[in-house]
Amino acid sequence: MPNATIRKPSSKSSSNGVASGGSNGFTPHIISGKATPSKLQAHKMVFYFGSTRTEGNAGLKALLGGKGANLADMCQIGLPVPPGFTITTDTCAAYYRAGQRLPVGLMNEVHKYVNQLEKETGKKFGSAENPLLVSVRSGAAVSMPGMMDTILNLGLTDAAVEGLAKVTGNRRFAYDSYRRLINMFGDVVMGVDHERFEHAFDHIKAKYKAATDTDVPEQGIVELCEAYKEVFRKKVGETFPQNPFKQLELAIEAVFKSWNGERAVAYRRLSNIQGLHGTAVNIQTMVFGNMGEDSGTGVAFTRNPSTGDNKFYGEFLINAQGEDVVAGIRTPISCDEMPKWNKTVYGQLLKIKGKLEKHYREMQDIEFTIERGRLYMLQTRTGKRTGFAAVKIACDMVKEKLITEKQALVRIPAGDLTQLLLPSFDPTKKKLATLLARGLPASPGAAVGKPAFTAADAVKRKQNGESVILVRKETSPEDVEGMHKAAGILTSTGGMTSHAAVVARGWGKCCVVGAGDLHIDAKNETITVRGKVITRHDVISIDGSTGEVMVGAIPTVEPKLSGDFSTIMRWSDKYRRLQIRTNADTPADARRARDFGAIGIGLCRTEHMFFEGQRIKSVRKMILAETREEREEYLAELLPHQRDDFVGIFTAMKGLPVTIRLIDPPLHEFLPQDEKSQAELARAMGVTPEKVRQRVAQLHEANPMLGHRGCRLCVTFPEILVMQVRAIVEAMLDCVANGIKAMPEIMHPLVGSRKELEWLRRMTLETIDAVKKEKGWQKRIDIPIGTMIEVPRAALTADEIAHEAEFFSFGTNDLTQMTFGYSRDDINTFLPDYLHKELLDADPFQTIDQSGVGQLVRMGLERGRATNPKLKVGICGEHGGDPKSVHFFHRAGLDYVSCSPYRVPIARLAAAQAVILAESNK
Ligand code: ADP
Ligand code: MG
Ligand code: MG
Repeated sequence: MPNATIRKPSSKSSSNGVASGGSNGFTPHIISGKATPSKLQAHKMVFYFGSTRTEGNAGLKALLGGKGANLADMCQIGLPVPPGFTITTDTCAAYYRAGQRLPVGLMNEVHKYVNQLEKETGKKFGSAENPLLVSVRSGAAVSMPGMMDTILNLGLTDAAVEGLAKVTGNRRFAYDSYRRLINMFGDVVMGVDHERFEHAFDHIKAKYKAATDTDVPEQGIVELCEAYKEVFRKKVGETFPQNPFKQLELAIEAVFKSWNGERAVAYRRLSNIQGLHGTAVNIQTMVFGNMGEDSGTGVAFTRNPSTGDNKFYGEFLINAQGEDVVAGIRTPISCDEMPKWNKTVYGQLLKIKGKLEKHYREMQDIEFTIERGRLYMLQTRTGKRTGFAAVKIACDMVKEKLITEKQALVRIPAGDLTQLLLPSFDPTKKKLATLLARGLPASPGAAVGKPAFTAADAVKRKQNGESVILVRKETSPEDVEGMHKAAGILTSTGGMTSHAAVVARGWGKCCVVGAGDLHIDAKNETITVRGKVITRHDVISIDGSTGEVMVGAIPTVEPKLSGDFSTIMRWSDKYRRLQIRTNADTPADARRARDFGAIGIGLCRTEHMFFEGQRIKSVRKMILAETREEREEYLAELLPHQRDDFVGIFTAMKGLPVTIRLIDPPLHEFLPQDEKSQAELARAMGVTPEKVRQRVAQLHEANPMLGHRGCRLCVTFPEILVMQVRAIVEAMLDCVANGIKAMPEIMHPLVGSRKELEWLRRMTLETIDAVKKEKGWQKRIDIPIGTMIEVPRAALTADEIAHEAEFFSFGTNDLTQMTFGYSRDDINTFLPDYLHKELLDADPFQTIDQSGVGQLVRMGLERGRATNPKLKVGICGEHGGDPKSVHFFHRAGLDYVSCSPYRVPIARLAAAQAVILAESNK
């Protein structure tokens, strides 16, 4: 028997995953278009799968859930699957619509299907001769590992357990299955605290002087069942149900309920899963991995989910039932060792790997059980993988001719590319570090932080700005919030398929599991390794690519990009139409973005340069100045700095266009708000502190985001515009003189009317001319002048504004702010409520609101181009690096998107995906 206490099936996991695309969710293929049931199926609540007949298929994921659809599919392709049936997700929705009541007629249907199962298996539900046992399993359309409930061995009663003992000739096994059922059913269905059962088990173990569960003799297990039933009766107030159909009905309802359990809701929120209406329920004939040394159970990936290597990769336990593997209590054996135990089964698994990959043309994540040497498949789904693995598997499968280049591109979650671009530990510094322990490299990355021993502590400390590593013996679905907040996750038990490993990989979070040398004392908040003690105040570094756990904060270095990464980028460039620019304010950012493939700067924020070094002093003096002459004097101090900055950026961009936005934020953002700095400024300017204080107060605005900012500043203080334009032109001429091609474009922010831009344009052109004359420049100077479209009025009157602009760049941050009337800086006070109540699909500042803000984008583009067909149109808000938004901008017909340097590869891939998806939607 397994050396394991049972755990509620809900608090383990196996990666239940259709590629949910990590946290950045590019998930075009989760729910197939075929999912809409035909008319005939519209009211069908139950679908059978088995060797006699199979009603479902892989196309019905929305209706049957991922698990149910794929169980049916595996039956269709002739894999050994224990027969069963699936209750649809629509039925779950109906259950909730009816105020949490099972739909009329459901249990009748269930009866019919149980009868059919009885026919196929030759067993009888509740029989005292040869009982049929089933598992009752949850399974939504999108994978939610371990977040909902499953019950095994259902159908056992006082009578049936004797029947099971008789047919198997193994009474201990029969009663061991029974005690597992009472425990799981009590815990999951009736809410009896698992500890109570544990306690009863300890009592029996003590009585029989058994060190582990497996040492308890048959008589002890029989007594244990009695004790468990007593725990059940005491806590529930009724005896353990002896009618198997009653058990089944209650279990079905419990699975429906778990759809809205705390864990499931939190997971959907953190993983951005929306728009589903319930879970399916799978009722499946039990097979037993706990029947002896010739039985076992395991989970595997058809390829390595961490690196992408094309090698069958799994873990199994001998003489164990399902959840023992993933619960992380017994450390599982690698499947590489399996041939020593059973060569035939291993061979069968490798054959199945080939068959599944050929069928799904995707890496699969499977669950299997071996009952007395016979292999059964219990689950298959698209395996969650790291960004590295996603890229490698996609490239390999193209080479293997399993998929096309285009298929390869759409299946890589664009956002997950970030993982490949993230820094890793500096190898030279790592050599010098003290190695604390070595675990399994569950999910790549380099995380540095202080240990947090509970999920709640991790959440709290992260909120206070601390970087923490969540350190647990093992994680469970209750921990997801803390896991999400932590910089990395470290566990001492569990394997590569444990809960921590699977969830972390799905999110692309650094994770090391099974570092067995660590003695974690959560109560006293210490980790002890060979006498060395680490507390919550000590910094540790964990390397998710190697499994190393080290003392201290190890410095990181930039990544080396793999050949596969370049291949993906090359294919992306081949298919995409959108151009990708970057938002960069420094030569270093500009260079990085160019290396990542940006073909220009779409947004260079000039005011970022105002804060550097001594410049802020000149800026402040300029702002406090009372006359134009005085202001010009301080602006003259700034001019050379600004010019040098531009020279640096032009040089870094080597002839690529650079869109420079003139000053944007309200002036008070530059001023010192505290008394001490105000006094300092007063001294520097030779005025009284009172004067500074007054001026700061004067510049205070009730609504600065709608106040004196953007081009409005230049309307009031044209000398600012003059200085900035002069700096740009002088920098350009300097570059040209040094043989460097410079291609500035001048962009006016926050424009709302044609007259405004007309005036700004004239000022700009006059300044360019003046500089040209001054420098005796004979040739033409071509500096396109354009505007941001970020005030709704600008989008509405884009046809008028386009008369004055050579380009538009949508500032979707401000445009979102002003369209929704949501303050960007204050939205977090209520956004969580809106997301939680599903009143918003996503944070509109991260993913563009297509129907509202998007409409202004489409309108602005259309009207602008009606006036000026050659108008170049792009977008430079945060949305430029968000895959879903990039898809929208492609469809809207923009020329380019501009995003932060690290997002450039994401945008390149997303832009290609947009083209491919549009083709397949035709
Ligand atoms: P999860 O989605 O959380 O993995 P599952 O419904 O897949 O939950 O099941 C939990 C565990 O029970 C898995 O290890 C699975 O393989 C095992 N299991 C489920 N149904 C059966 C069955 N009919 N026979 C044997 N083991 C089963
Ligand atoms: Mg499973
Ligand atoms: Mg703006």
